[in-house]
Amino acid sequence: TEAFVKAVEEARPLNAFITETPDIALKMADESDKRIASGTARPLEGMPLGIKDLYCTKGTKTTAGSRILENYVPQYESTVSQNLWDNGAVMLGKLNLDEFAMGSSNETSAFGNCISPWRAEGSDAQLVPGGSSGGSSCAVSARLCLGATATDTGGSIRTPAAVTGTVGIKPTYGRCSRYGIVAFASSLDQAGPIAHTVRDAAILMKAMASVDPKDSTSVDVPVPDYEASLEGGVKGLRVGIPKEYRLEGTDPAITAIWDKGVEWLKAQGAEIVEVSLPHTKYALPTYYIIAPAEASSNLARYDGVRFGHRADAPKDLIDLYERSRAEGFGAEVRRRILIGTYVLSAGYYDAYYLRAQKIRSLIARDFTEAYKKCDVILTPATPAPAFGIGEKVADPVTMYLYDVFTVTVNLAGLPALVVPAGLSEKGLPLGLQLIGKAFDEATLFRAGRALE
Ligand code: GLN
Repeated sequence: TEAFVKAVEEARPLNAFITETPDIALKMADESDKRIASGTARPLEGMPLGIKDLYCTKGTKTTAGSRILENYVPQYESTVSQNLWDNGAVMLGKLNLDEFAMGSSNETSAFGNCISPWRAEGSDAQLVPGGSSGGSSCAVSARLCLGATATDTGGSIRTPAAVTGTVGIKPTYGRCSRYGIVAFASSLDQAGPIAHTVRDAAILMKAMASVDPKDSTSVDVPVPDYEASLEGGVKGLRVGIPKEYRLEGTDPAITAIWDKGVEWLKAQGAEIVEVSLPHTKYALPTYYIIAPAEASSNLARYDGVRFGHRADAPKDLIDLYERSRAEGFGAEVRRRILIGTYVLSAGYYDAYYLRAQKIRSLIARDFTEAYKKCDVILTPATPAPAFGIGEKVADPVTMYLYDVFTVTVNLAGLPALVVPAGLSEKGLPLGLQLIGKAFDEATLFRAGRALE
């Protein structure tokens, strides 16, 4: 823990942490030392982790990457982080993220962008660590912690993992409790880990998952010992390749690694089958209606009265709401609130929100059909390797297009694992995505192990 505390301090220019908690870390590590000495060590005893600053941590500032929660200190702990502490893990601090997890590059954070430790060969241009869990992927890939928590509403675990050469899993919706995690889009949000290896991710996942009476959408299914299921191999496993994911505009390096992934799995005995997910092309517009709609509703609670920032000397109640929110929310969050309230408003609800919900069902049904022919689905994780800081931030639509391979999974509520699969010509990490059947994370870990 001491070594990691020092590493975190030395890596401050990367801006991975919003809040460092060295005193808490050392205290927890002392307790772990005692446990180990007395033979009562728990599964994650003494493992230093970073926590995405979207998870409420009792007594430690939780900002959600927003000015509006700049000084918010929760009175309670999120269930997932509590599960980690109960398993003996140590908290190093709170990790940077896009504001309210809205973004794919960590550039919408009110506390400055986070910088990937990676550089393209022959260039010292700074790259994004992916987002929204950019602090998590940065801290893991820069070896500032042994693992990190993250969240995924439309790709925020998988995109950062893919572009930093780390492993990330978005579990099945309902696998982890959302209690105490600042809400973005409640029907899509899931907690999950970012880690160095598939094995580490499996171990963290086991500790994080639980049914929770405080989250009515958490599901009471047994959590298997994922680590035990790692070594089964892929012989006989039916791997689906969705033809609709061969998208124009995908970087040739990504397409090449996808083809290689197919070859690797085949060589290890997997059976490759072509599958069709015909509604894929509607996934991005569907996601960018449903997610902002839910966000606009979730963010209504930040009114300057109960939480966070409050404008000075308001004239009246409306002035208090307007100025607190205008001062507290950044541009991307305001854009989402505008889109969300628009698609939910009378007269437009049927045309946008209701239609998006119908298409969401069709997207989920595509997967149900595909899983009649296969056990897992292999796809790219991102359309290109990491891009430069500032490159896409001025054009939201370009940024949204980066989520093209990840959002379908959230709309369908399925689990998906991203594993590092190789490097681009310029030496940047390339990830592959394995999508599984609901609550079948174990098969994803087993297949991921074969690709790693
Ligand atoms: N990039 C997507 C968005 O901005 C996904 C974010 C997420 O998964 N939290 O909405």
